[in-house]
Amino acid sequence: MKIAILSRNKNLYSTRRLVEACEDRGHDSQVVDALRCYMNINSQSPEIHADGELVGGFDAVIPRIGASITFYGCSVLRQFEMMGVYPLNESVAISRSRDKLRSLQLLSRKGIGLPVTGFANKPKDIKDLIEMVGGAPLVIKLLEGTQGIGVVLAETRKAAESVLEAFMGLHTNILVQEFIKEADGADIRCFVIGEKVVAAMMRKAPEGEFRSNLHRGGSASLIKISPEERKTAVAAAHAMGLNVAGVDLLRSSRGPLVMEVNSSPGLEGIETATGKDIAGMIIEFIEKNARPHRTRTRGK
Ligand code: ADP
Ligand code: GLU
Repeated sequence: MKIAILSRNKNLYSTRRLVEACEDRGHDSQVVDALRCYMNINSQSPEIHADGELVGGFDAVIPRIGASITFYGCSVLRQFEMMGVYPLNESVAISRSRDKLRSLQLLSRKGIGLPVTGFANKPKDIKDLIEMVGGAPLVIKLLEGTQGIGVVLAETRKAAESVLEAFMGLHTNILVQEFIKEADGADIRCFVIGEKVVAAMMRKAPEGEFRSNLHRGGSASLIKISPEERKTAVAAAHAMGLNVAGVDLLRSSRGPLVMEVNSSPGLEGIETATGKDIAGMIIEFIEKNARPHRTRTRGK
């Protein structure tokens, strides 16, 4: 097969590993930088060009779209879909997963465990909002933050009120969430491919920090997850329409709660922690599933 890897930088660990895995399994691959692509949108033959050349002839595309280029990256991916190229994750699923509130709403409809979450627009509703999620301590999140930036723990009701007022004053979209204290600064990253959790790791926040992101100094370790956690992670990826996803869970006293579903999960942390060839499993999934014109949502 000929596989496009939609990534801005061929030196990134995840991109390198996917190129290697293609090679190992006898496929041609090409790293395509979405920002270098431009498109010809017409009803006869939709095309993608880069640096004066036609980008084409691919059977499948692996999107690795960073949060900062979601809009342009998803547009290029959608163009691949229009050309009948099989996407590992569909553009629609990636765009929806980038909006935390939209994601939580979709997960809630499927009855998947979530931290109680509130969303409001007017400062006059702050008191009620805090009440709705069970009072302080609580977590306040910027709707489009990543890597733990824009996630604040407000320990008291007073602190929560003033942080919320400040964000609302700036017209920033934020959500308010029940603080899961018993998770004890740890979360579980489940790497889902298709109908399976193929690897899982626990990430633990450094002393004095509640955010466990590796980018915030968190450390990763191997973990055995329960059948319920497995089921929750797969259901969450499914609800978002993602074939491949990094599902982040918190262990709470009422069972696993989904915090986030990541559509371009990094390979470095999880391959290092587990010693598994996740890149190889991704290519294997493509071998089994890639068919032309198989995009279910057709860009809707
Ligand atoms: P980001 O998308 O920026 O990584 P997250 O929503 O994943 O933001 O939050 C970052 C980290 O903060 C999580 O990995 C987790 O350790 C911690 N955290 C987030 N929400 C909660 C919560 N409701 N209760 C307890 N800890 C939380
Ligand atoms: N950037 C990804 C994330 O949001 C992957 C990092 C990791 O492997 O933990 O978590």
